[in-house]
Amino acid sequence: MRALLPFLTLFKHAKFHLILGIVLMLAGMIASIGLMTLSGWFLAATAIAGIGTLFNYFYPSASVRGLAIGRTAARYVEKIVTHDATFRVLAKLRVQIFSRIIPLSPGVLNQYRNSDLLNRLVADVDTLDSLYLRLVAPFITALSIIVIMTIGLSFVNVGLALFIGISLLVLLSVIPTLFYQLGKRFGAQLTQARSLYRVQFVEFIQAQAELLLFNAQNQAQKKLEHIEAQWQNYQQKEANLSGLSTALLVFFNGLLVVAVLWFVSEADLGTGLYKAAMIALFTFCALASFEMLMPIGAAFLHIGQVIASAERVSEITQQTPMVKFTGTQELFLNSQPLIQAENITFQYPNRSDLALNQLNLTIFSGQKTAILGKTGSGKSTLLQLLVRNYDALQGQLLLAGKSIEHYTECSLRKNICFLTQRVHVFSDTLRNNLQIANENTIDDQRMQYIVEQVGLGKLLQDQGLDLWLGDGGRPLSGGEQRRLGLARILLNDAPILLLDEPTEGLDRETERHILNLILQHAQNKTLIMVTHRLTALAQFDLLCVMDNAKLIEQGSYSELLNQESGFFKRLVERI
Ligand code: ATP
Ligand code: MG
Repeated sequence: MRALLPFLTLFKHAKFHLILGIVLMLAGMIASIGLMTLSGWFLAATAIAGIGTLFNYFYPSASVRGLAIGRTAARYVEKIVTHDATFRVLAKLRVQIFSRIIPLSPGVLNQYRNSDLLNRLVADVDTLDSLYLRLVAPFITALSIIVIMTIGLSFVNVGLALFIGISLLVLLSVIPTLFYQLGKRFGAQLTQARSLYRVQFVEFIQAQAELLLFNAQNQAQKKLEHIEAQWQNYQQKEANLSGLSTALLVFFNGLLVVAVLWFVSEADLGTGLYKAAMIALFTFCALASFEMLMPIGAAFLHIGQVIASAERVSEITQQTPMVKFTGTQELFLNSQPLIQAENITFQYPNRSDLALNQLNLTIFSGQKTAILGKTGSGKSTLLQLLVRNYDALQGQLLLAGKSIEHYTECSLRKNICFLTQRVHVFSDTLRNNLQIANENTIDDQRMQYIVEQVGLGKLLQDQGLDLWLGDGGRPLSGGEQRRLGLARILLNDAPILLLDEPTEGLDRETERHILNLILQHAQNKTLIMVTHRLTALAQFDLLCVMDNAKLIEQGSYSELLNQESGFFKRLVERI
């Protein structure tokens, strides 16, 4: 239950609407019970009075009308207000979750699959809507109704009023506790199964090509069906228990009505024929009062799912980012050296080996640096640290003479442009895919020029920059994606460029052309480029060779070529 506390505190953002919702729910319920009770009494009284007796039937019949109209109106407005209140709270919650997710560094978010994150953000937050609609509001309403009804009936007969009130109170405490306990365990399992099914289903759709090629579709389908069967099994259990809660309440309703009939016939309700009308009043009141208890059993059965969803959402919101941007300074590139790595050591979370081991590196402003090395040697990791996607475990990383932690995130992003190894293509137009490269509006002409330059002119043929890319649009080959990423770099004005294998997957001729473009664009900038190729390396000021998380060689092209039995020299000779 404690998992629900952070979400209950969100209620303060829609206090007025939530209270109004409960008041309206209360009004609707009072009208409903009042209608039944008054009708019961009125019909009985009219029948007893018979024809020819003086009996004022105007007030009761007008009240019956009034209560019937009041019930409909209150219910209508109540539905609008309670749902509006819930959506207000959920909107706050979604924004809160989103603002907590964004600063989580890749290191934290990597632990979750995208579909799982989406599921938490959408389905689990949706489940939390029943916290107010199905649990809090109906429970408070039921409690208030019991008190009001007992006080109301006690004006007629205190003993009977207390009997009905206490019986209802006992049911209101026993039924929710019982069904909360019954639903607690499998509610969490149901939520897990639902999430697992959705994650697996997305994977099943996304992996269709591989599954077909390897003839593994049947196997994957069976796995999916198994998870679905489990999910349905839990749903079936919930439905059974929900049915049981209704059956129990109907049974107790009948029992209470019989008991009330029994006691009321014995009670002192005045004399004469009108006593019979009072019997009808109490009986119908007991009968109608169950309307407020009916939804409560199923709602408390559902609480297990609400708690599980709350825990799943909290798991994300309570994560602390691995990198916190607390710096306040702006980065100015006028001091040398520009980048200094001093004994940097880094290890990815959940990994036992080091990704960077005691790395020392100095780069001056305007220098062109190439980083080479075997796969998995830590090249991309070094770039990740330079953009503060992660912080070093030990050692210092200085930018313009100050620790990288001193700078604001905005200042780092403005000054450093990073082409990652995997380029993300948005499901959007080519224009918008390029526009993200620069906070200032880039004019179409410049975009078209750069698109031609990186060899993607073909894309402009039919629809120009309006061509839709990504999902549902024109698919891009691996090489085309890299060149789209490169176009973004060329449209960006940042003075420091970090490029992670910009020419990977390109043929030699295109590679040479792209490298020339990069070097031309980086003429007055600082460039750090990770590469597996040896093309154009002579044009770089500094070459760094990494192996097994260490920087094993560094120097100019000619210096490294002259190093006897050096890694780089052997590489060049081999190729
Ligand atoms: P490549 O040339 O294949 O791109 P690389 O030199 O860029 O390789 P890195 O990506 O820096 O290598 O990886 C260095 C080591 O860190 C590898 O062993 C890799 O498995 C590990 N690694 C990389 N990213 C992560 C991550 N997000 N979480 C855990 N380990 C990681
Ligand atoms: Mg890499």
